[in-house]
Order: sequence, then C-alpha cells, then structure tokens
Amino acid sequence: MKLKSIELSGFKSFAKKTELTFGSSVTAIVGPNGSGKSNIAESFRFVLGEQSMKSMRGKRGEDLIWNGSMNLARAGRASVRLVFDNTDRALNLDFDDVILERVVNRDGGNEYYLNNSPVRLRDIAELLSQAGIGASGHHIISQGEADRALSASPRERREMIEDALGLKSFIYRRAEAEKKLEKAAENMREVESLRRELSPHLKFLERQAKKIEESEQLRQEVRTLYREYLAREVRYLKVTSARLGRERMEPSREKTELDVTIERLRQEVGAKKDDAQSRELVHLEEEGRALRGRRESQSRELGRIEGEVAAHERLVRERAEVMVKISDVNSFIDEIVAALGGALEGEFSALRRAAEKVIESARGFAARATGASAEEDTFPAEVAARKQAVEEELRALRAQEDEVSRKVAELRARIEGEKDASRDTERALFAAMSRRTQLEGTLARLAGQHEVLAREKQAFEDAVREAGMLLGSAAFEYEQYQPLSEMELPLSDEDIAHEPRTAQDERRRTLERKRIRLEESGAGNAEDVMKEFRETTERFQFLTREIDDINATMASLRELIEELSETLRTRFSEGIETISKQFDEFFKIMFGGGTASLTVVRTDLRRAASEDEDEEEENKEKEEVQEGVEIGVSLPMKRLKGLHMLSGGERALTSIALIFAMSQVNPPPFLILDETDAALDEANSRRYGDMIETLAKRSQLLLITHNRETMSRAGILYGVTMGSDGASKLLSVKFEEAVAVAK
Ligand code: ATP
Repeated sequence: MKLKSIELSGFKSFAKKTELTFGSSVTAIVGPNGSGKSNIAESFRFVLGEQSMKSMRGKRGEDLIWNGSMNLARAGRASVRLVFDNTDRALNLDFDDVILERVVNRDGGNEYYLNNSPVRLRDIAELLSQAGIGASGHHIISQGEADRALSASPRERREMIEDALGLKSFIYRRAEAEKKLEKAAENMREVESLRRELSPHLKFLERQAKKIEESEQLRQEVRTLYREYLAREVRYLKVTSARLGRERMEPSREKTELDVTIERLRQEVGAKKDDAQSRELVHLEEEGRALRGRRESQSRELGRIEGEVAAHERLVRERAEVMVKISDVNSFIDEIVAALGGALEGEFSALRRAAEKVIESARGFAARATGASAEEDTFPAEVAARKQAVEEELRALRAQEDEVSRKVAELRARIEGEKDASRDTERALFAAMSRRTQLEGTLARLAGQHEVLAREKQAFEDAVREAGMLLGSAAFEYEQYQPLSEMELPLSDEDIAHEPRTAQDERRRTLERKRIRLEESGAGNAEDVMKEFRETTERFQFLTREIDDINATMASLRELIEELSETLRTRFSEGIETISKQFDEFFKIMFGGGTASLTVVRTDLRRAASEDEDEEEENKEKEEVQEGVEIGVSLPMKRLKGLHMLSGGERALTSIALIFAMSQVNPPPFLILDETDAALDEANSRRYGDMIETLAKRSQLLLITHNRETMSRAGILYGVTMGSDGASKLLSVKFEEAVAVAK
C-alpha cells in the first residue's frame, strides 16, 4: 500500500484545488513560515477521520474551510481526497486505487466517501485500522509534537504504542464484542424478565392443564362406568320386561277365563233360588192339603153315615142276641144260683157277692134289651144312597189325592236332586273366586314389579340423557358394548338380568360419585386452556431457547474478548519489548551511548481516579488496574536519569528515537513529520537524516522541514508559498530552489 496523492480544495489556506503526488519514498515540503505547510499535514489527519478539532488547530468545522481573503472569496466547503495504491490489497477492499474523501460544510456537517461512495466515519476507521493507520495519528507528528510521545501520560502512550503496533483493529474488535456482549446481556435481561413474567402464568396454566388431564381421565372413567352400567341396565330391562310379560300372560288369561266362569256360576246360583218348581211344589202341596181336607170331611161324613147304619144294625142284632142271651143268661143264672145255692155257701162269700152283682146287671141288661127294639125298624133308605154318594166321592178324592201326592213326591225328588246340583255350583263358584283372588294377588305382585320396572326404565332413560349431556355421543357406546364376566367372557343377557340388583346399585353409586367429581372439577373451557397452555409453553420454550442462544452468544463473545485480550496482551508485551530494544538502539545512535527503555506500568485506577478524572471518564473499560507505558532513559556520561532531566534538544532526540523505534517495529504505510527536526544541531540532523533513510525503507515519508540536511534526503520536494490573495500555492522544486524557498 502506497500513498499516491492528496488533493486539497477549500481546505484551510488551500483555497484552490491543490494536488500533491508522492512519487518517492521521501517527500519533503518546504516553504516560509505561515505559507500553509502544516495545513497539508492536517489535511492528512482530516481525511483520515480526525475528530479532534484541536489537533487540526481549529474550533469548529468551519475553521477548516477556506475563509476567503481580500481578493478571493471564501469557500462553502472544504474537501480532501487521499488516493492509495492498493495493489497489494493492504486495505481490505478489492480496488487497486482506494480513494478516501472527507468533506466538511459550513454548517459543520461532515461527509465521508470511499471510492466516491458515501460511507460512515466508522467504515473509514475500520478500514484504516487494518493497515495500521490509526486515529491516534502516531504516524503524523505535528509541529512541536515530537515531544508528544514523551509528554503523554502512560495511558496515552500505551494507546500510541498500541496504535503503532497495529493493535487497534483488535481493540476495535474487542470493543465491538464488548458492545455486543453488553447488548446480549441487555437482551438476556429482557428475555429473562419476559420468561420470569411468564413463569407464574405458565405454572397456573400447568396446574389447569393438569386438572383438565385429571378430569379427562375422570371423564374416561365415567364413560367406562356409564357404558358398563347402561349396557347391563338395558339388558336387565329387556329381560325383566319380557319375563314380567310372560309371567303375566298365564294368570291374566286364566283370570279372564275365571271372570267369565264366575259370572256364569253366579248366574247359575242366583237363578235357582226361586224357580217354578218350588212354586209348583207349593201349589201341589196346597192342592194336596185341600184334597186331604175334603177327603177327611167326606170320610167323617161316611163314618157318620156308617155309624148310623152300624148303630141301627147293632140294635137289631143286639135285640135278637139279647133275646137269646137273656134266656142263656137266665139259664146260666139259674145254673149258678143252683150251684151256688147248695154247696158253696159259706166258703166263697166274696165271689158270690161279685157274681150276684153280675147277675144283677145281666138281669138289668136283659130287661133293657127287651125294651128298645121299636125305633130300628124306621132307618130310611136315603141314608144308604147318601152313603153310596159319599163313598163314591171319597174314592174320587182318594184317587186325586194319590195323584197329587205322587206329583209332589216326584217334584220333591226332582227339587232335591236339583238342590244338590246347586251346592256343587256354589262350591265351584267359591273355588273359582278363591283362585281368582289368588290370581289377582299374583297379578298385583306382577303389576308391582312392573311399576318398579317402569321406574327403572325411567331412571335408565334419565341416566342416558345425563350421560349424553356429560359425554356427548360417547354416551351411546353402551349400545354396542358387550359386558364381560370377571373371566372376560361375554355375559348372556340372562346372566346380566339375574345378577343381584345390589351390584347395579353399587355401580350406579360409584358412577354418581365420579360424575359429581367430574362435574365439580369444572375445568372450564378445556380446549382454550390447553391451547393457551401449549402456546405459553411454546413461548416459554422459545424464550428458554433464546436465553440459551444468548448465553451461547455471550459465551462465544467472552471467549472472543478473552482471545482478543490475550492477543493484545501478548502482542503488546512483545511489541513493547521490541520497541524498547529499538528505542534503546536509536537512542544510542542519537546520543552516542546511554540507555533507553519502555516498561509497562500498572496503575490502580481506583487510586488514580481523583488525580485524573477526565481520563477516568473517557475510560469505559471496566478494568480497575490499567496498563501504561513508562519511559526510562539515561544519557551517556551523565548520572542523571529520567525524562524531566533532559534539555529541549535532548527531549527532541529522545522523542524522535521513540517515534522512529515505534515506526521501525511496525512500520506504518506512511509517516508525516512536521518540523520534527527543528531543534537539531548539524550533527544530530545528520543522524536524523540517516534514520530517515532507514525508516524510508519501510514507510513512505512526508517531511515538512526547514532543515537542509533533511531536504537533501528527499526524492521529491514541494515548495509552498502564500500569494497576495492569502491562499497557499504549491510547486514542485529542486533541491537548490527548496533551500532557497525554505529560507
Ligand atoms: P510555519 O513554517 O511558520 O510553521 P506553515 O507554513 O506551517 O508555517 P501554516 O501554519 O500551515 O504555515 O499556515 C498557517 C496559515 O494558514 C496562516 O496564514 C493562516 O492564516 C492560514 N489559514 C489557516 N486556516 C485558514 C482558513 N480557514 N482560511 C484561510 N487561511 C487560513
């Protein structure tokens, strides 16, 4: 990488476009005081992105713009274009020529261009840092600034050295990594706080989800219980209903029959109570009684008639008989009296008395019978006729009576027979009625069972409806479900129906308990909650992944920072060592002896804070101990040590030795030295010139000088003059001209 040219327009005293080309490794700029030479050095700072107005001797951006003169109007903007030959690609851009341009406007606004494209300052800084052209400008030593390396604080010095060592790019990268780390930490805090905020909600949802899962499980249990219960119940109802129907059939048929039978028997029994036969019997009996009455009265009449006849006949006979008998009796009495008159007198006196009485009555009777015979002879014939009539009627009546008696007897026999038949009917009726009562009992019992069944049916329907509300269509699974035995074999409907009802009741109770628990679990809108739970979990997981990612990023950033820090530490300490050695060498050349060295010192910032507040403020690093660089020198033949003991010239020499040492270790592409040689005597000017030639081997040099010796070492000489219009003018000059111009 080489400097090709620089072009100033409107920059400070360079009112007109002015171009310097750098065809040699050593270019010198000469000219009288105040002609604008230093403005050229500053134009370099400017175009390289210098932000400190002070180091460009201005206060505001405007101060950098040609301010006009009596006869040349002021410019609206100042611009500087710097062209690098980048054929070696030292700058990480795929261009042979890299053109940097910076413009400042009167309003103070700055524009940066890279190969004519607008870029940010930062892009310029990064690009340059790779090539060891840092913003600290260690490669641009302004007028009176040679001393800077000596007068700087240890920390500034360290920065200069870091810059010179080309460590800036590492520092940039480290700063960038730190910024990223900071940002990552901020992200991390944000994400962690989001996750923290999410956490209780997630926990809540987790609990909800668990509840839902539990209630889902409960639902499954309830579903299974319902299925088992309903499947059994429906079979039980079917079988029981059929059985009751069957059981009813026979008794109710029988009862219907009995109803008919009983009705018939009843009628039969009732019909016999007052029938014609009894009436006829009564009638016949009455007729019999009437006939008997008439017969009896006729019999009496006949008796009377026969009495009359008999009495008359007896009278007649008796008279005859009495006639006989009287003679018999009188003879008998005479026999008796004869008999008795003799023999038996005294011995049988009593018997004799009785016999005497009988004889007496017999004598009386015989007397009477002889007296009554007159009337019997008058008995009328009509009596015989009447007797005959009565006898005829009696015969008729008897015949009638016999007829009636026969009829009565016959009727009685019939009625009696029928009475027996009626008792059988009553017995049958009674048996039928008692059977019917029995049947009614059976039917009532069956009706009771039927009622129970109806209630069970209702309860079953309620249960199905309930299940439907709770489980939806799953409630109807029982229709296809086949209950199994404990041995997991299909159960017949009969088996199921004949299981003791207590088993179903127990199932029902279990079901109820679970159902109530399920209803009470009231897990709300499960789908929404589960959705939210899923989403929140995803979000939580996303955040967790984010945290992991950020952690990984942070870890790799820390690693990078640590690596960069390590690189910086080693390169720095190695660099310091090399610079120190080189410094010592140059110092010995400059002073013909003596020693010079750089040492790293560590400053405790906590203690240094009060002493150097500004510095502390600028320092954003979190380190508490900071490394700085101290310079140690000892002059030959002099006992005194330390920078403060040096004369102005000695300081300048030491400073140059250090600058050159730095440039030697990590040569910058170019080095601008503005009157660094101002304080040197002739002998030192020669040594300075020698060192310049050494440096020029590795860096392009731009020397602003009044020193003849220095001019003599330049390949190209530019003279700067200031005309009457107050604007700087540039011209290429020869050595002799330069010597003349310089004065
Ligand atoms: P010396 O040899 O004394 O160091 P020099 O050649 O380095 O002098 P400079 O310091 O570069 O001279 O130039 C200073 C001159 O530039 C001054 O005359 C100053 O008026 C002029 N100058 C600085 N800024 C502006 C500006 N914005 N507009 C016009 N002229 C300016």
